[in-house]
Amino acid sequence: MTADFLIVGQGVAGSVLAWTLDQRGCSVILADDPVLPSASAVAAGIVNPLTGRKLVRTWKADELFPFLDQFYSGIEHALGVQFFHSKNIYRPFRSVREQTDYLALLADPAVRAYVTETTNDQVYSRFINNPFGGLEVTQAGWLDLNEFVRVVKGYFVRKNQYFEGRIIPDDLHIKADKVGWKGIDFTKVIFCDGVLSRENPLFSWLPYNPVKGQILTAVAEGYSIRNIVNQGIFILPVRDGLIRIGATYSWHDLDWQTTNEGREFLESKVRELLTIPYQIVAQQAGIRPSTKDRRPFIGLHPEHPAVGIFGGMGTKGVSLAPYLAEQFSRYLLDGEDLEPEANISRCVSL
Ligand SMILES: Cc1cc2nc3c(=O)[nH]c(=O)nc-3n(C[C@H](O)[C@H](O)[C@H](O)COP(=O)(O)OP(=O)(O)OC[C@H]3O[C@@H](n4cnc5c(N)ncnc54)[C@H](O)[C@@H]3O)c2cc1C
Repeated sequence: MTADFLIVGQGVAGSVLAWTLDQRGCSVILADDPVLPSASAVAAGIVNPLTGRKLVRTWKADELFPFLDQFYSGIEHALGVQFFHSKNIYRPFRSVREQTDYLALLADPAVRAYVTETTNDQVYSRFINNPFGGLEVTQAGWLDLNEFVRVVKGYFVRKNQYFEGRIIPDDLHIKADKVGWKGIDFTKVIFCDGVLSRENPLFSWLPYNPVKGQILTAVAEGYSIRNIVNQGIFILPVRDGLIRIGATYSWHDLDWQTTNEGREFLESKVRELLTIPYQIVAQQAGIRPSTKDRRPFIGLHPEHPAVGIFGGMGTKGVSLAPYLAEQFSRYLLDGEDLEPEANISRCVSL
């Protein structure tokens, strides 16, 4: 028996790549072990073209953002589901100084393209501490990742192209032009195993820099802001009265356990921002598959060209995966070039 691709791991990276290759007419088996932890199961799923205190434009934002919109809405239309929510991100200023600094940043047309002309601060004032006003970032939103992963899984299950369980790299019979696994010969096996690729003997040599993150879910009765609010932390409205608050960043303590310290940090920030009472109902932790140079890991193994990786998505898997999966599929199927900054060939001398 033969198939084109075995995709190992079904977080956002594996889901997006499997869908992209399937739509190109390839036969794809998608595999995931639900016992293993997944960053996508924890993440808020926010896409944000201008990040950080200095409103830095996300890497390749002009390509990524139009593409992701089309990609996720394409699946929604094809399957009659909804998981992507376009929203603006409201950024209340912390001070008059910050207001002046931010308004100066808008002189840059590259920043200006992602900010609205007008923001109705009074709508936010009912719930958000915003004495200095704020601005709104456009072309943003959030992907309901659990729903997205569930829908993509269902699609491959219905096609009988889903394997639930762990793929052990040592079980793969790797040759120059194919990989055998359980009696099936695949043209390529692509690992989308997130931060667990650090323990994958085929790709453990890549320079990872994992970042732990924690996030809270809370009930805030009556909270009716539809947009995402961001001031150091974000408040993401999931549905009426239910919000997610995140996230923390830590480079030590790299396990998947929640901590009191994480919760206290987020609560101290949200108390400054939110003016109504809330009650925490859940806390989650995950590890972001970040890399030393903050660029994804995409490409084929330097010694085993039938094995590849699509990972290293760091803090931005939802915005990076669609555009880069399209590029990777063109590289694999049409021999086109891969984005050099994302290609793992940059790390080979390491
Ligand atoms: C608190 C927090 C908040 C975040 N918020 C955002 C956000 O707002 N927006 C954003 O874009 N990103 C966010 N991120 C980052 C985001 O989680 C990652 O960019 C993204 O989820 C990475 O996806 P992935 O598919 O590469 O890895 P994962 O989601 O970790 O998926 C890897 C999958 O591979 C499976 N797997 C691994 N090894 C094997 C194996 N051998 N066999 C079978 N299956 C295997 C695992 O079970 C898992 O399902 C956040 C992360 C955290 C922790």
